[in-house]
Amino acid sequence: MTDTAGGGALPAQGMPAADVLDEIRALRAADRPTHGGRLFAYVYDPGVAGLDELAQAAYAESAHVNGLDPTAFPSLLAMENALVAAAARLLGGGPGTDAPDVVGSVTGGGTESLLLAVKAARDARPDLAEPRIVVPASAHAAFAKAAHYLRVALDTVPVDPVTLRPDVAVVAAAIRPETVLVVASAPSYAHGVVDPVAEIAAVAAAAGVRCHVDACFGGWALPWLRRLGAPVPPFDFVVPGVTSISVDLHKYAYAPKGVSVLLHRDAALRAPQYFAYADWPGYTMVNPVIASTRSGGPIAAAYATLRHLGEDGYLRLAAATRDAVAGLADAVRAADGLRLMAEPESTVVCFTADDPTLDLFVLVDELTARGWHTQPQLRYADLPASVHLTVTAAVAPRVAEFGPALTDAVAAARAAGPVVLPPELLAMAGGLTPEALTPELIGGLAAGLGLGTGPTPDRMAAVNTLLDAAPARLRERLLAGFVGLLQRPAW
Ligand SMILES: *Cc1c(COP(=O)(O)O)cnc(C)c1O
Repeated sequence: MTDTAGGGALPAQGMPAADVLDEIRALRAADRPTHGGRLFAYVYDPGVAGLDELAQAAYAESAHVNGLDPTAFPSLLAMENALVAAAARLLGGGPGTDAPDVVGSVTGGGTESLLLAVKAARDARPDLAEPRIVVPASAHAAFAKAAHYLRVALDTVPVDPVTLRPDVAVVAAAIRPETVLVVASAPSYAHGVVDPVAEIAAVAAAAGVRCHVDACFGGWALPWLRRLGAPVPPFDFVVPGVTSISVDLHKYAYAPKGVSVLLHRDAALRAPQYFAYADWPGYTMVNPVIASTRSGGPIAAAYATLRHLGEDGYLRLAAATRDAVAGLADAVRAADGLRLMAEPESTVVCFTADDPTLDLFVLVDELTARGWHTQPQLRYADLPASVHLTVTAAVAPRVAEFGPALTDAVAAARAAGPVVLPPELLAMAGGLTPEALTPELIGGLAAGLGLGTGPTPDRMAAVNTLLDAAPARLRERLLAGFVGLLQRPAW
């Protein structure tokens, strides 16, 4: 920011529009590339010419429309109902199916969809003083967040270190009289593995408990992959006992950020999701989702994206993604010392290292240095650290370049050798209790790791190694501390 006379984002005198945009563009230059097919996390890029412009125009059209009141802005209600119908159709619901009464809500993202699925399940059982949910260890962290926010107990079922799926008998055994929801993923984000949804839904139904399928990630990919011939197991409303499903349109529907759909098998299941309040002097409030005022922008952009791409477009993009996944997996198989965590069955390629001289976190940095942005995953329970690639259609034209880059990066990582942290730092990470972490200690650690207040360092291997050595509770405290240091007012 150049002129901060008025304080941070507010200059004493307003600036010309072109200068403001220049500023934003200059800031954006430090970001990871959102287009170009070499970013394997955070951004879902179909690589379709003209789609960004369409979504932006649609967004602008509805940016100031408020989803607070669907009677005031029927355009938004119509687009939401159309998005819900499309998602329901794709996921085994709607007229003529075994789930003809499906209803849903458009939310701001996957986390919000999951929070609301947990809220609906909790509030359907007001008789329970201490409600609980059963969640495979591979389920998205947003369920832990929901449990935390909503004061619901979290019963985590381990996943098998080879199949990366939970044992259904263990899921069944974890269901208690206080359980309000059982979860399955289609697929899991970390490894891209589809849980045994039919079996999990069956044990939930037998216990009279709701079953949510988290298809935030795969709900808009697996149906197309199946139509293309992939052996995708049943995971949607076709499966008896599945009571709700979430699907993020800002992932494989390729809509701009801020839009997800939460579906329920019928309106009675959805009813406890709503919050209505009439006991104050203002307008009577009824919110289906967490936000009250919400922009029509993301909804209109998602609507435009679906209308423009159509079924034929999504099939084409799914085919490109499938081929890219196969090519990337081949590159991993061919790389010396790497091993796939699982045979790809969706849109994820996830690998680990078999060889102690090859440090995965160093490899991630070497790939970054070569322009390939992957996502490191820390070790968890009996699972080793791994590298995650979310593959989107835009990757397809770059796949041939990935193999050589990976070979090169592996050689460089081997030559550099594993990260060696000072022994006192490692001992601290292993032995420190979260309670002992003072702001001074976090500040000192951050400075030592190059995580000051300036730009984040290019090389993150030391940070990842430190986090990897720490137990989960300590990791959480360190992460919150480090990010809290970055998030300071720009005076
Ligand atoms: C991305 C994701 C979420 C969370 O979605 P956000 O949009 O990031 O809030 C939940 N579950 C799965 C499986 C996901 O991939």
